[in-house]
Amino acid sequence: MKSDIILAGAGLASSLIALALRRARPDLSVLLLDTAPGPSDAHTWSFHDPDIPAAWHKALAPAKRGDWPDQEVRFPAHSRRLRAGYNSIDGAGLARLVAEAGAQVIHDATVTDLGAGHALLLDGRRFEAPCIIDGRGAQPGPHLVTGYQKFVGIEIECDAPHGVQRPVIMDATVPQRDGYRFIYLLPFSPTRILIEDTRYSDGADLQDAKLARASHDYAAAQGWTGREVRRERGILPIALAHDAAGFWRQRAEGPVPVGLRAGFFHPVTGYSLPVAVEVADLIAAQSDLKTGAVRRAVRDFALARAHQDRFLRLLNRMLFRGCPGPERYRLLQRFYCLPEPVIERFYAGRLTWADRLRIVTGKPPIPIRRALRCLPEKPLLKGDT
Ligand SMILES: Cc1cc2nc3c(=O)[nH]c(=O)nc-3n(C[C@H](O)[C@H](O)[C@H](O)COP(=O)(O)OP(=O)(O)OC[C@H]3O[C@@H](n4cnc5c(N)ncnc54)[C@H](O)[C@@H]3O)c2cc1C
Repeated sequence: MKSDIILAGAGLASSLIALALRRARPDLSVLLLDTAPGPSDAHTWSFHDPDIPAAWHKALAPAKRGDWPDQEVRFPAHSRRLRAGYNSIDGAGLARLVAEAGAQVIHDATVTDLGAGHALLLDGRRFEAPCIIDGRGAQPGPHLVTGYQKFVGIEIECDAPHGVQRPVIMDATVPQRDGYRFIYLLPFSPTRILIEDTRYSDGADLQDAKLARASHDYAAAQGWTGREVRRERGILPIALAHDAAGFWRQRAEGPVPVGLRAGFFHPVTGYSLPVAVEVADLIAAQSDLKTGAVRRAVRDFALARAHQDRFLRLLNRMLFRGCPGPERYRLLQRFYCLPEPVIERFYAGRLTWADRLRIVTGKPPIPIRRALRCLPEKPLLKGDT
């Protein structure tokens, strides 16, 4: 069976590429293969207004579960309302957009072998295309050293209005445990709210029951009673060191990795929607849609992005390696005192040199000697780098 382009995995990165391709080139046949039995409700993907261009806001609007004019952070020393709008899309909405765009999605399709021109499924079916893209999600490797953002979110339908007016992207007034801890709140309706207990930790072990209970306890402390209607969990990589050149040397053949598989995520937040949008636009703009040409374009983008993200990885090393767990919130507390345009450019991955200076100057939140120890990135990388 032949298509113009095959995307292995029908998650966030692949879906956005499919949307961009079908919008730019409606003549192309785009096929997505996913192991899951159907679209999942296990995700809500959120982003700040300035993270993506206006055309993408328009394109994603029908998939939105939430669209708020502002947001808020809370720390022991200060709380702040931030002017940037916040948005959430969900898996079902994104899948609907992909189908409406005319891309074909096959579920229950586990890819066992993926080459530069073919995809082979567990059940023996074989598909061919001149362009093969691999968006099957994160795959740990020696070129990326990470800490972790771990969370369990419970969505509850409250018995009475919860009173939360806007997303609280960090409520760090809670007791600090297992690294930097905060609660993330998304009020989807006056009575529906997602409560996510989140930890920036050194280890990837996620105790689901414990974090879910902590989210329920938070709800109870606010006086919210109701019924849990959905749960989500995540263990997101937080990049401490990245050897993108080494990674791409090992991907000189075969399919083109995208999404988390290619290390495309914001190093500090682990969120990937904004960079996935950029990669989707990049691929859709290619005149030569063959695996080799697309690989060159995506690799060049990846190398430039990894270079640009060096500063963000340094911040992570300071957070994870320079700061004891219970003290980590102080770095974030200080960051959220900065002018809003700096905060917005930080999330969108567009920090200027002046922004970087602004973030690190002033009274250091960690002792200077400890901060200096965090500077070098290379010693963290092992193996083929
Ligand atoms: C619960 C949760 C919430 C998150 N919230 C946000 C957020 O709000 N904003 C944000 O920007 N980021 C968020 N992230 C982080 C990140 O953006 C997501 O993990 C994102 O989905 C990564 O995109 P991806 O396309 O690389 O992988 P995925 O979206 O995970 O897609 C991978 C797909 O590949 C499929 N697959 C895997 N193996 C195979 C195989 N062998 N054959 C066929 N298919 C296969 C999977 O079924 C899956 O559908 C969240 C992550 C999680 C887990």
